[in-house]
Amino acid sequence: MLAGHMGAAVAARRFAARGNVGWLVLAALFADVVLWVLILLGVERVVIPVDPETRRYLTFVFPYSHSVVATCLYACVFAAMGVQWGGWRWAGWLGAVMASHFVLDALVHIPDLTLAGADTLRFGTSLQTQPVAALAVEAVLTVAGLVVYWPVRRNAVVGVVVVTLVLTVGGTLWGPMPESEAQAAVGPLLTNVGLIALCFWLDRR
Ligand SMILES: [Zn+2]
Repeated sequence: MLAGHMGAAVAARRFAARGNVGWLVLAALFADVVLWVLILLGVERVVIPVDPETRRYLTFVFPYSHSVVATCLYACVFAAMGVQWGGWRWAGWLGAVMASHFVLDALVHIPDLTLAGADTLRFGTSLQTQPVAALAVEAVLTVAGLVVYWPVRRNAVVGVVVVTLVLTVGGTLWGPMPESEAQAAVGPLLTNVGLIALCFWLDRR
């Protein structure tokens, strides 16, 4: 999921009622940025399907970027930054958006999300085994986020989120599967960082 996380970020901008939406997009995508960096460092793992014709999704071993414990830790860090720079309301929404990453991933992933790493409680509905259904849910979440965002910030960030959704759908259904873990990580890492930077720039005052 990528567009769905961005939908959560832009929706939160309305209720946070202040700040560059880039901060919220950073909070929403932070777990994935950490994931792709840790995969390149060999700390976390992505499992590439051997039968991409029938299995259109990657699975992960990612306790440091995507467990409940890690999510709570990162959410606290974002909230603490928010208190410093924007007050309690801004802090609450930064932390909530960071934590929403886990919830939205669990909504579609197979149960590869854990409480605190291997041999702990696992989370995930396995909706991603039916890619069309998973994409439909992501599209609804993304569009809902944009509908919430639109009245307060009518800027090009909306276009970025729409393009991200279109590319997410195309990539999931028809995109080539990566051939190595490094190849799987580089593209998404650059995409995530690029989207965060682009949203910061487009929402600058
Ligand atoms: Zn994720």
